[in-house]
This record gives sequence, C-alpha cells and structure tokens, in this order.
Amino acid sequence: MANAKRFGRREFIVTSAGALAAGLGSACGRVPVSEIEAAAAQVGRLPQRTLDRSGRKVTVLIGSATWVPEAVEAGILCGINYWHKTDEWDRHSAPQAIVKNREAHYCEVCIDRVRGNHETGVIDEEAHYQLVKQAVERTGLRYFDDMMFHFGYHSTAELKNNRAFIRAYERLKKEGLVHHLCHSQHSYNGNARVPGGEDRAAILTAVAQEGVYEHAQFPFTFGEGEALTKFVSFAKSQGFGTTAMKTTAGAARMQADREFMKQFPAGTTPHNALARWLTTSTGLSTAIVQINNLAQFVDTYSGAGKPLRAADARAIELMSAYTNREVCRLCNECQSHCAEGVAIADILRYERYATDYGDRERARRLYVQLDKRGDACQVCGTCLPHCPQGLNIPAKLADAHRLLS
Ligand code: SF4
Ligand code: SF4
Repeated sequence: MANAKRFGRREFIVTSAGALAAGLGSACGRVPVSEIEAAAAQVGRLPQRTLDRSGRKVTVLIGSATWVPEAVEAGILCGINYWHKTDEWDRHSAPQAIVKNREAHYCEVCIDRVRGNHETGVIDEEAHYQLVKQAVERTGLRYFDDMMFHFGYHSTAELKNNRAFIRAYERLKKEGLVHHLCHSQHSYNGNARVPGGEDRAAILTAVAQEGVYEHAQFPFTFGEGEALTKFVSFAKSQGFGTTAMKTTAGAARMQADREFMKQFPAGTTPHNALARWLTTSTGLSTAIVQINNLAQFVDTYSGAGKPLRAADARAIELMSAYTNREVCRLCNECQSHCAEGVAIADILRYERYATDYGDRERARRLYVQLDKRGDACQVCGTCLPHCPQGLNIPAKLADAHRLLS
C-alpha cells in the first residue's frame, strides 16, 4: 500500500479543532491542518449529481485513494463522497473521517482478473469473492458500496457467456459486504494477447443495455472520439452512470511546456479548464482527476461545476490539439498491426502515469512486468498509418523505454 507509508497521525489530529470535528486524522503528519483547511476553503463545497439508476448523489468530481493523503483530507472537507480504489487503503491509512462516518461515503473496491494480468488473467468467482472479503478486513471499512470489475470485459461475447464476476458480487451482496456493481472498461480491439477483443465503446454499450451493472468508468477526456461521446449520451438516456477517468491526458506536461503556456488563455489553467469542461459540458455523471498535491487539488477542484468561460473553451481547444499531437489516447487502433506484439497502449499508458501523474515508481513497476517492452519495437513503421492521432509511435516507445527502464 503505497499510501500507507506517507500517512502519519498524531500531530495532525491534535492541531485543529475543526479537523477533529470533521473526524480528520489519518493522513498528513507532514502537512499542517491549517493548509488543508485553507485549500478546502478555496475550493468550497462541491455540487452533487445523480450517479445512476440507484438514485445516489455523488459530487460532480469524485476522489481517489491514489491521491496524496492531504488532498483526500481536503476533498472530504469539500464534500467528496465517492472514493475510487479504496481497497488501496488499510486500517492505518484509511481516513478516519471516512471510517467514523462510513454511511456518508461511497467506497469502491477495485477487483482485477486473477492468475495473469488484464489481458491474460481469468474471471474466477471464488477468487473475486475472497479478494473482496480480504479487502473488507484489511481496510476496516466494514463493507464496500461499489464492487468494480477493473479493466472490464474483453468482448461482448465474454460479457454474455462469463457470469463469474456477477455471481461473486451476488454472494457478497447477500452478506452485506457490497451494495452495487460497476466496472471499468479498456479497449481490446486488435490486441494479439486477447483474441476476439473489442473496442471499449462496443462493450460499454452492451453492458449498459444489459442492465446488470449500474455504472462504468472509462478513459474519456477533451477531444474524445465519436464512439465514446455517443456512448455517454446513450448511457445517460438509460440512467446508466458514467465516470470519466484518465482525464488529465497530458495536462501536467502542458503546464510544464513554456511555449505551449505562452499561448494559453489568461485567467484559466489546464486543470481548471478541464474540471469545468468535465462537469458542465459532457453529459457525464462524474469524473476522476488524479491529484498529486494540494495546489493541484485547489487548481482543479475549484473549477468543478463552474461554468465554462470563453477562456476555458479556448483552453480546451488548445489542450485537445496538444494531446492529439503528444499523448496516446489509448484507443488500441495500432495494436493489431504490430507483428512484434509490442504492448503499445500499455506502454504509453504507463508513460502517462510517470509524466502526468508524477508516479514513476508505479509506472516502472508495471512496465517491467510487460513481456514486450518499448525496446522490442523494430521501427518498421507498420503501425504508423493506423494511429488516428498520427503519433510517431516508434519514437514515443523509445522515449517511454528510456523513461521507464
Ligand atoms: S514500428 Fe514498432 S510498434 Fe510499430 S509495428 Fe513496427 S515494431 Fe510494432
Ligand atoms: S498509439 Fe495511437 S493508435 Fe495506438 S493506442 Fe495510442 S492513440 Fe491509439
């Protein structure tokens, strides 16, 4: 549990009567409570919106257990009530403000395939059932509100024919250990390690039509293609919840790019424009933005639910063009054209973790597990015409290999 190492306790709880009243106190020995409260005050109370058919109200931007702990504490003060990947916490790192006021928060457990990775692993009822039971015990959260099938189905056929994850959920629900079913979905079209793999929009549409799952998370951000944009509208019409993830899509590298920022509209920032756009202009139920420090929390979350101004709209146009030029959107269109089986989208996803999330440790850990890394690229160029963004894939793979090796 990476976060557990960063969490202190005592000095945090004793310094602020306000924090005590809020039940804060699991997290941030290194950050004074006053700074956290000041950050929360700058953001203010976040508005809420209906998540899905369950009728639950969640904040228009939700939070994640992968955030730095001081941002989690500030988020709690701002009313964030849905927490992604809470199985990453343990009894020491889970925020006391959530543990002590458990019913005020929706906590999600994120469950992967077993005996392999998201491409090669299998769906196994008993293993998933046990993983959730262990996570309940480990975190001290008593139950999870949402049980998420991480990475999702490889195809619509798998959704139809393999019900093992759903059976695990039903058993756990009877025991009161989970309450709602959701999934996240990546693309598997053309993936040599996933025969018959399909595009995420097709699978998401089938899941929403079937009606067993209640909401889904998927990579979605500014400049998104037509298929996913269409899915978001369809999901809304069905009362199926949608949560955008991987939303920053290069925002951090934009901010560090002086030439790019010279032409950036005054009065906004990449993260603030992103938050405004996600929460007012997309039809999504909610979204997650990865947060690495308190300043980024304030910059981003202070835009949540606020109108998209002319400067923000212009910023989003510039950001879309930048991302199309520089950042892989993980569509997987290139994958089937690589005879070497290089895991292009995975490698470029890890490059995003390192560059945009500042999480090089996680990116490297995942990268070394790949069987075909960036150095397996033969620079043959076969994949190039198939990237809708026209990315120089071999050059990006070489850069990623240098960054992650
Ligand atoms: S250039 Fe590299 S990644 Fe692209 S098809 Fe050739 S070997 Fe695969
Ligand atoms: S490199 Fe291009 S085609 Fe391949 S996943 Fe990324 S955006 Fe899609």
